[in-house]
Amino acid sequence: MDSSLLGSPLLGRDEKHAKEREYAFIFQQLLETILKQYDNCLASREQAEREFDVADFHTVIPCATKSIIEAQFQHVYTHEKFKEVQAQFRGKVDCITRSMYSTLGFTTYEVIEQVSNSTSNKFVVTYDAVSRDVKCHCLLFESRGILCRHSLSVLSFERVDNMAPKYILERWSKNIKRRHTHIKSRQDEPLLEPRSKRFDELVFWSHNICEFASEFKELIEILHRAFDKVIAEMEEY
Ligand SMILES: [Zn+2]
Repeated sequence: MDSSLLGSPLLGRDEKHAKEREYAFIFQQLLETILKQYDNCLASREQAEREFDVADFHTVIPCATKSIIEAQFQHVYTHEKFKEVQAQFRGKVDCITRSMYSTLGFTTYEVIEQVSNSTSNKFVVTYDAVSRDVKCHCLLFESRGILCRHSLSVLSFERVDNMAPKYILERWSKNIKRRHTHIKSRQDEPLLEPRSKRFDELVFWSHNICEFASEFKELIEILHRAFDKVIAEMEEY
């Protein structure tokens, strides 16, 4: 179909109207097809997530180590996040921890991580025995919300067997309902609740930010840090 025909002086008014109606009909058909596919995608994704949720509730991934802390994550986190946590617990075996100096319960550690036969990296980790705060300069927790193997190594050294709640993040708990099930398919539109509408607006807004941030790893890290601050602020609300 050649849309330039619409501007052609060779077509009479009735023919132009007929062509316009024909194009409108084709466009409508195309739109219907796209929306139908979108609905199907949403339905299959929600189905897959329901299956994942059921699996998360009814199966348990065995711990990789004997750590009591690892078991704390095992019971709370979704399978996907628990696997990421486990990778850090496994990484502890390549770390050697030594205390550098200590004052009033605040200790600075040096953690040497063997990354190959001939290469090792040094990390400085601080631990506050009063607040139970642990901080590593690799900033894995600040950027990804996962405690790094260096911090875990220090916690083992300190014989900590009860993780401070601030390091177990609710957003990855299998006990919370997944946020994006608020996305409704087209057929549900008249039933949309104000919360779902607000959610859709947030998705649209955050999509632009994510598109921008995904250009560079550094931008993503900035975004993760910002999210962590925002989440902490919202939890206080
Ligand atoms: Zn670290």
